[in-house]
Amino acid sequence: MDRAAIRERLVSIVGADGVLDRPDELLVYEYDASDEVFAGHHHPDFVVLPRTAEQVSAIVRLANEVGLPVIPRGAGTGLAGGALALRGGILVVLTRMNRILEVNERDGYAVVEPGVINLELSNALQPRGYFFAPDPASQRACTIGGNVGNNSGGPHCLKYGVTTNHILGLEVVLPDGERIWTGGPVPETPGVDLTGVLVGSEGTLGIVTKVMVRLTRLPEAVSVLLAAFPDIESASHGTSAIIAAGILPAALEMMDHLTIKAVEDAFHAGYPREAGAVLLVELDGLQEIVTENTTRVAEICRQHGAWEVRVARTKEERDLLWLGRKSAFGAMGRLASNYYLVDTTVPRTKLPATMRRVEELSREYKLSIANVFHAGDGNLHPLVLFDRQRPGEVERVLECTTEILRYCVDVGGTLSGEHGIGFEKRDYMTLVFTTEDLCAMAGLKKSFDPRELFNPEKVLPSGFRCAEVGLFRQQALAQRLGLEYV
Ligand SMILES: Cc1cc2nc3c(=O)[nH]c(=O)nc-3n(C[C@H](O)[C@H](O)[C@H](O)COP(=O)(O)OP(=O)(O)OC[C@H]3O[C@@H](n4cnc5c(N)ncnc54)[C@H](O)[C@@H]3O)c2cc1C
Repeated sequence: MDRAAIRERLVSIVGADGVLDRPDELLVYEYDASDEVFAGHHHPDFVVLPRTAEQVSAIVRLANEVGLPVIPRGAGTGLAGGALALRGGILVVLTRMNRILEVNERDGYAVVEPGVINLELSNALQPRGYFFAPDPASQRACTIGGNVGNNSGGPHCLKYGVTTNHILGLEVVLPDGERIWTGGPVPETPGVDLTGVLVGSEGTLGIVTKVMVRLTRLPEAVSVLLAAFPDIESASHGTSAIIAAGILPAALEMMDHLTIKAVEDAFHAGYPREAGAVLLVELDGLQEIVTENTTRVAEICRQHGAWEVRVARTKEERDLLWLGRKSAFGAMGRLASNYYLVDTTVPRTKLPATMRRVEELSREYKLSIANVFHAGDGNLHPLVLFDRQRPGEVERVLECTTEILRYCVDVGGTLSGEHGIGFEKRDYMTLVFTTEDLCAMAGLKKSFDPRELFNPEKVLPSGFRCAEVGLFRQQALAQRLGLEYV
């Protein structure tokens, strides 16, 4: 079928205002929030904006018929190149499917379309006494469908868990265009846990068209403390000590000196500029316990070297402290023209040693590195600052970030805490997974998507595409049995 005929069919499914294919219209969809220097920009053949699950299904059937790749996309705030059209194809943008369909307080769930913005869901639930707990720093822009795709995290995931802990069920259009429901309002459903498989699959197994989310009750009381430490090491020890004392903050975030300076210049959040590191600690729950834990956390921070501990007195003060943290990536423009954001996780006790290693690498590679991270989860975000115009700098950044990832994996950590693998980190998967592990993942992908049309080139490293799985299995088996594979 020629291009004009495909366009016509797409228009018949979603209407003329739901199909984009002029180069100027497509330009914005050639990128997501990952760094263009590393992920590149990739031109989809068509961008389609459906309004219903039936339309999504019809688009997918058409893509199958004409053999075009399908790439699901929410707001495009992903940081791993997950929503890029690497092989062209149809980019299915879910932002017009943005209705909250049902809120059921008695059974504790809401059903929403995938294009609902994360913060708008919590804002809508708030007057009823609830919120949606996963809160990525991008929550003002990112969609619930994207959160499901990336199994996103956020500051409050320390206490409440990441996206997968808040998804009860999903309506999904599979790569053959069939529509299924997984899970449901009852927490324990029998059979294979397809919801668990689909959350975090980064749009490689299907398109989520409805999401049943768990409602979380708003806490009775909230308190936010800011503790200023002389350096990252003492703040890291403070972090471990708070958790070891049996206190589970709702959030426990750390920012280093470089980040504090950038945030202060850009947003005037009231962070002490001279601090080597600050901890932002949010405690929530019953009033009495929050009051008691606020005092204990302040004491623990002082015992570990904090020279200033400030407790926000009003909601406005709390919001200002959080604004600084949630806008920290945006503030980096003050420090350098480019930054590469690393997303990795180490066991909490390895934080001080990991931060020392990051500092060493910063010196070794002559690159400034700012740090802002979910310290409570051990989820690091070193931001390697650079200037893409300087010769050799991009290569140095790549070497440096690879070293950081390698170190984190070596100390028992993993490749991503929340941003996903996408295209950008797929070739690092071999650092963490064995051939057998990757074959199992590729086998799963193949059972959902035998034609490899769904978000191709993502998550699995090159060499582990569906077609190669049989070969790898045989090689792995031969190796295990000590046989030569020919
Ligand atoms: C400033 C900034 C701060 C950020 N902070 C955080 C953070 O604290 N925590 C965090 O986890 N992330 C963070 N992110 C990354 C990103 O915002 C999140 O991963 C977010 O969940 C992506 O949502 P999105 O709607 O933009 O998805 P997109 O970027 O459009 O897509 C992300 C992935 O999900 C897939 N996808 C999207 N919609 C669907 C669907 N309906 N069905 C199936 N697959 C789908 C896509 O194919 C892609 O693989 C941040 C990003 C920025 C720019």
